[in-house]
Amino acid sequence: MISAGLVDLQVNGFAGVDFNAGTALTTTAMTQALDALLATGVTCLLPTIITADEASLRTRFDALDEAIEESPLGALMCPGYHLEGPFLNPAPGYAGCHPPAVMQPPDYALVERLEAGLKRPILLITIAAELPGADSFIRRARAAGKLVAIGHSAADFAAVQAAAEAGAVLATHLGNGLPQALPKLANPIFAQLAEDRLAVSLIADGIHLPPPALKVLLRAAGERAILVTDAVAAAAAPPGLYDFAGMQVERDAAGAVRLPGQVSLAGSGLCLDAALRNLLGWGFADAAAALAMASTRPAALLRPALAARGITLPGSELRWDDGLHLRSLRLGPIERAYPAPLPGE
Ligand SMILES: [Zn+2]
Repeated sequence: MISAGLVDLQVNGFAGVDFNAGTALTTTAMTQALDALLATGVTCLLPTIITADEASLRTRFDALDEAIEESPLGALMCPGYHLEGPFLNPAPGYAGCHPPAVMQPPDYALVERLEAGLKRPILLITIAAELPGADSFIRRARAAGKLVAIGHSAADFAAVQAAAEAGAVLATHLGNGLPQALPKLANPIFAQLAEDRLAVSLIADGIHLPPPALKVLLRAAGERAILVTDAVAAAAAPPGLYDFAGMQVERDAAGAVRLPGQVSLAGSGLCLDAALRNLLGWGFADAAAALAMASTRPAALLRPALAARGITLPGSELRWDDGLHLRSLRLGPIERAYPAPLPGE
């Protein structure tokens, strides 16, 4: 199989490196993480900053932006950022591992303050669509050429429709960032699935979504389905403790990442190529369909935001074996070959 490069719209960290580490994030570490992402076929990603107070958001964006600017792979792979929060629903379950105390209603001026001075734009913002001011926030973001997603949200049918009307384009990691118990039918999952104007991002690690639930979501979303990893530093890394946005999270032997002793998940330990193999292995998609969900489809979603800024992504081509293991890669001037995986890998 040959495909375009994979595009991951939600990456909090990778291969032991936390993109939310603030001043602790070095250029060397960033290059190491981007190198490891390339080996999974990801040629374009939106490094993701999660909920924090304004001063911490500022520090984290500045450090991330500097590390990417100075990294030789940064310019090729990172056209901009994903801000997930702080405009999220603070209620238990909806908040996930994000700190609810610093969540707030959507405030576009905060986005402008965070972005001022950055070399790269904030391209995607995940908000809870039921919060006061959400619709006007979405309109302002859209007018500025940004994409808005709904996530960590209790938005009902009407709120989701209004958000889509205002210009929201994506449901962030649908099925996650939600309490365990929800109304059986009038719930945010059905509301977002039913809204044809929303692409639907899904974490296909078999942990965030039990495979049968993933199967149903994929079928319902159809051509709107997109794969993301929501990876943290514990992805492409062994079991153990990792930093994530000022928290310590633990990757267990099964690959789940949690705050130690807690049930709810804190990002994932997933690599995007492994998500492709999961879909193939579970029989939920063939190779071409799985690759589209992780390459051309998220690229198409991103395109208007890039076009608004005159950003063009470098050309890319990936070659895969029958089991969807990456064999070689071209990204702009970079060419890499990857040795065959060990049996059972
Ligand atoms: Zn999230």
